[in-house]
Amino acid sequence: MNCIGSNLPEGVGQPLWLLAELTYRCPLQCPYCSNPLNYDLNKTELSTEQWIETFRQARKMGAAQLGFSGGEPLLRDDLEQLIKAARELGFYTNLITSGMGLTLERMQAFKEAGLDHIQVSFQASDAEMNDYLSGNKRSFQEKLEVARTVKKLGYPMVFNCVIHRENIDQIDKIIELSLALESDYVELATSQYYGWALKNRDHLLPSKAQLVAAEATTNRYREQIKGKSRTKLIFVVPDYYEERPKGCMNGWGNLFLTITPDGTALPCHSARELPIQFPKVTEESIESIWYRSTGFNHFRGYGWMKEPCRSCDEKEKDFGGCRCQAFMLTGDASNADPVCAKSPHHHLITEARDNADLAQPAQGSMIYRNRKNSQQLSQTQAADLIPAQQVEME
Ligand code: SF4
Ligand code: SF4
Repeated sequence: MNCIGSNLPEGVGQPLWLLAELTYRCPLQCPYCSNPLNYDLNKTELSTEQWIETFRQARKMGAAQLGFSGGEPLLRDDLEQLIKAARELGFYTNLITSGMGLTLERMQAFKEAGLDHIQVSFQASDAEMNDYLSGNKRSFQEKLEVARTVKKLGYPMVFNCVIHRENIDQIDKIIELSLALESDYVELATSQYYGWALKNRDHLLPSKAQLVAAEATTNRYREQIKGKSRTKLIFVVPDYYEERPKGCMNGWGNLFLTITPDGTALPCHSARELPIQFPKVTEESIESIWYRSTGFNHFRGYGWMKEPCRSCDEKEKDFGGCRCQAFMLTGDASNADPVCAKSPHHHLITEARDNADLAQPAQGSMIYRNRKNSQQLSQTQAADLIPAQQVEME
């Protein structure tokens, strides 16, 4: 591989992980979706050739893992072509899908194209809860069939379920389902509160007691399956219950490169919400974007930090936490992530936790990720939004 490693500017890593968000179109409406609130304003999608050129440049820069994501990447008719091109370039490829619309024929075509890995997302362990959370009446049955076929075709499968207040008490049943489907990896990742999930935080943030119980249940299953099953159970606690933030993205512009449907390059998939201009792969080479663009250099190093991070002896561990969370909660992306107990804004987190401990249900209904809500949020940021629309195909 022709890698430019020897010319790397000091202290800047290589974009080893490439996430290709092929489209924002999606048949589901998950209220914790990581797509931007105003995704419906961005309908442009890169062409097949533009994507392949993007993969080529990223690979040359050292990228080794490529995730095909969205929206729902299956809605791209050229997905087989993109997988084939990525494999020929030497990427390890992963399809991150809701499974909706994935047929046996298409899975076979992906196999022939060289796809390495499939991640299927579930919302819950039963049809009622799954379909309520995804805003789609057919989704559970379809996901079950897809997951069984994925295994039949011999793919390693990640069973992904975003865990939150509404489904956390059925975590035992979710694990049972993942084991019954012979999943290789089970990601029980508690929701992260950006974008849509932040709008729905009162409905989604579990209480401390719920979290403790869910972690204990996961540990019990880990013990039960030890030596009997190859399934690996991964439980990710929400950072809202930590006193220090996570070392976000391994540092800004240091390892991860996300390309959005219209070709905007981001250092993380939530960064589009920040008031920063990010370049497009249609206008600049990836090498120039990664090393020289203002967007990618904005939060590199430590010079941008304010107190308490600036003089903190932990800053090399966590880089001040998540820039997107700092911006969304405090209005200033240069502040310390409020998850940190040293942050003057930490009360924003503890208040949300205290609220989650109250027994009362959250007020109002959840704001589903759909086109109408996206349009409305883009225009007004109104609180009064439209409920899930059943089986809305975009
Ligand atoms: S709505 Fe759900 S399935 Fe669709 S992109 Fe968002 S999280 Fe993924
Ligand atoms: S003050 Fe800043 S650098 Fe120090 S631990 Fe908190 S977030 Fe990290």
